[in-house]
Amino acid sequence: MDTKQLAADIRIWAAELGFDKLAITDTDLGRHPEYLERWLAAGRQASMDWMQRHADLRAAPARLVPGTIRILSARMHYAPPEDDPLAVLQRGDLAYISRYALGRDYHKVVRPRLAKLAARIDAAVGGAGFRAFSDSAPVLEKAIAEKSGLGWIGKNTLLLSRDAGSLFFLGEIFTDLPLPVDEADPRDHCGSCHACLDVCPTDAFVGPRELDAGRCIAYLTIEHRGAIPEDLRPLMGNRVFGCDDCQLVCPWNKFARTTAEDDFHPRHALEASDLVELFSWTEAEFLERTAGSAIRRTGYSGWLRNLAVALGNAPQSARIVAALRARRDEVDPMVREHVDWALARQCEPC
Ligand code: SF4
Repeated sequence: MDTKQLAADIRIWAAELGFDKLAITDTDLGRHPEYLERWLAAGRQASMDWMQRHADLRAAPARLVPGTIRILSARMHYAPPEDDPLAVLQRGDLAYISRYALGRDYHKVVRPRLAKLAARIDAAVGGAGFRAFSDSAPVLEKAIAEKSGLGWIGKNTLLLSRDAGSLFFLGEIFTDLPLPVDEADPRDHCGSCHACLDVCPTDAFVGPRELDAGRCIAYLTIEHRGAIPEDLRPLMGNRVFGCDDCQLVCPWNKFARTTAEDDFHPRHALEASDLVELFSWTEAEFLERTAGSAIRRTGYSGWLRNLAVALGNAPQSARIVAALRARRDEVDPMVREHVDWALARQCEPC
């Protein structure tokens, strides 16, 4: 088998399937498993216990999929066209939703696409093993991407590329095919910049490349269940699902590319929706309008909780007070506590 030619063919097939770049590496993740261990030991994962449970599988890809000797790491851009995220962040009456979540849930796009790529490779070579992942198993995706040469892990903990910034999804194919590995570029191109560390609204970075998930707005609005700590609420502004500040401020994102996938274009005008309107959605409306979207992950109660916090942070308005009062008694007790907090903020000092 001419593995060099096969690797070249795989890159062409990946591009045909919508991947912007693909690189190949082995299973040695260098210093990253040790970093993960230290991060977990410091409790930075907050309530994400599953990160601890599967740490051993993350550290050793061949333990997750026995026989793995190569990993194909691929990226797919998601930045929507004609988008002005900073303008939305400045409008306290609008909801800011992380740009990755405006369209179809990427898990439903990236992994099936990688499975198609694996099937195509299998059809060409036969008899090899393939497993495709995209945030769907304990895999150190950014470490693998860095090792494969797709970029470096920036001080904001995200994978950065000099030709594409960081607004892309990652996915992997584990295989036992002895493909030639690509050369990693271990250089860190952050230099003396620390804009992402400075801009974080909740001061969630303990230091470069070390995030305290318990303070991160993405964690608080998506993964966290229950009440949001009161001291963090005023810092969250209008961010109701995720947060992109550490990406938006990054100078490398002037090279971010617009997605070629219609699936990642915003649905239901979620790129700049009115907070009051979103807060008025019934559960049936929430389920209908977030069908196939990553936003479902926070659940209806989490959605209302996040919106209540944003409404409390919005400029004072009688319309917002009326919207909060109208739903106060029909929401669950956890959300109601956030509604009361928001009402107190909206009515200050009256
Ligand atoms: S904002 Fe600066 S320090 Fe942060 S990831 Fe980008 S280049 Fe690196």
